[in-house]
Amino acid sequence: MIQLPKTAVITLGCPKNQVDAEQLLFLLAHDGFPLVGQVDEAEAIIVNTCAFIQPAVEESLDTILEIAGHKQNGRCRYLLVMGCLPQRYGQELLKQIPEIDLALGTSSFPKLPELLLKLLQDKSPTRLHVSPPDYRNTCGLPQTTSQPHSAYLKIAEGCDNHCSYCIIPQLKGKQASFPPAELTHKAAELADAGVKELNIIAQDITAYGQKLSDRTDLVQLLEKLNEINGLEWIRLLYAYPGKVSDKLINLLGEQTKICPYLDLPIQHISDPVLKRMNRHDRSQTIRETIYKLGSLKRNIHLRSTVIVGFPGETDRDFQLLLDFIGEGHFTYLGCFPYWPETGTKAAMMETQIEESVKEERCRAIMDCQRRITSRHLQEYIGKSIPLLMEGESLESEFLLQARTAFQAPDIDGITYITEGFSQAGEIASGRINQVHDYDLFASLNETSVKTST
Ligand code: SF4
Repeated sequence: MIQLPKTAVITLGCPKNQVDAEQLLFLLAHDGFPLVGQVDEAEAIIVNTCAFIQPAVEESLDTILEIAGHKQNGRCRYLLVMGCLPQRYGQELLKQIPEIDLALGTSSFPKLPELLLKLLQDKSPTRLHVSPPDYRNTCGLPQTTSQPHSAYLKIAEGCDNHCSYCIIPQLKGKQASFPPAELTHKAAELADAGVKELNIIAQDITAYGQKLSDRTDLVQLLEKLNEINGLEWIRLLYAYPGKVSDKLINLLGEQTKICPYLDLPIQHISDPVLKRMNRHDRSQTIRETIYKLGSLKRNIHLRSTVIVGFPGETDRDFQLLLDFIGEGHFTYLGCFPYWPETGTKAAMMETQIEESVKEERCRAIMDCQRRITSRHLQEYIGKSIPLLMEGESLESEFLLQARTAFQAPDIDGITYITEGFSQAGEIASGRINQVHDYDLFASLNETSVKTST
C-alpha cells in the first residue's frame, strides 16, 4: 500500500487560478492525499502559477525556486508546477528548473493526482503535460473553498477579445462558457456547504453563453443562481463595458441577491488609445453603460480598472482619463502602468512611454480616486447596512472585519468592526461610523437587518 505524501498547494495570480487550485484540492482530498497548509510539512508541493505579465512570471519563478530549495534541504520530495507558466514556456521551463518533477498546463490539472501517484510508483510519467486549453474536464469539478462563507464561481474560461496588450487568450484559449446546469449544481453544492457570497468570474462574464447550444445568457444564468437557497449575495466581476446588456442592467436594478455592485474594467476613455488597445468599446459606449447604470433607482457601485502609459498615450489622452475618473463614477478603482508584454501586439508598438511618466500618471489617477472613494463611502455615515462578517481582522486581533455588498474580496476596501460581535459568515447589521480612505469603521447593531442588499 503506497503511503500518499503530505501535499501542499501554493496558488498565485487571479481568482480564476484560485478556483483551479480549489478544484485540485478537492480532487487530491478525494483521492486520499493528506493536505497540509504549511510547505515545511509537505512532501509534495504544487505551485499553481501565473504568467500573464513579466512581473507575474518572475514571482512564479521565484516561488518555484524557493520550493526547489525545500527539495534539496527539506521534506519536499516532489515539486509540481501547474497553470499559466507551463502553458506559456513548456519544455523551456523544465530545462531551466530540472528540480520540477511534473508541469501541467492550464486545463491539464485534473490529471495531477493520477500523475503524482505514478511518480510515487516510480513509473516516471512524462514530465510535461501541456495541450491546447480544453475546459470540458474542469468546468464541473467541485471545489474546496478557502473561505467557508465566500466562493468564486468561474462560469467560463478563455477569451475572444484579443486586447492588444494581453496574452491571456494565448494561455487560456478561446472563450468557452460552462454549461448552466453544471454551474447551478455547483453553486447549490457551495451554498449547502455554507457559502453565502458567490463571486461570479471569467475573463469576460458578459461573453457568457455566446457559444452554448441552448444559448443561455448571463442574465438567465443569474436568474437560476438567484433561486438557490442559502446564497445571500451574488457579485459580478469582470464585465466588458460595451457588452453590458439592458437586460443585465434591469436585473441589477431589481432587489435580488445580486449585489448592487459591478466590476467594469474600462482600461481607458480616450478613443485613439482604446482603438490601439483593440478594445471594442469607445468612450461613448462606456459612458452610455455607466449612464444607464446610474439611472437605476438602486444605487449600483462600480469598480473599474485602467491602464496608463499605453504606447502613444499623449498628455491630452491622459488628461481625458484623469478628468473622466474625476467625474466620480467608480467607488473603487485599480490603475496599472502599462507593461510591454512579450508576445503582444502593443509591445511592438512605437511611442512606448517612459516608466517615470507611467508612474506619475498612475499616482495622479489614484490620488484623484482616493478622494472619490472616500466621498462615495461618506454617504454611509450614520446608516445601518448589511455586512458579511469575516472573523478576526488581519490588521488587529482587537477588531473583527467584514465587507459590505459593495466591497469585493481582496480588491476593494474592508469594514472594520469597532463594537459588537457576530460569527464569521453571518450577515449582520452594522452602523457606519467612520471612513478612512478605502475602508469603513462600523459598530454592529443588536437587531439583525434584512440580508438582501
Ligand atoms: S478582455 Fe482583454 S484584457 Fe481581459 S482577458 Fe480578454 S484579452 Fe485579456
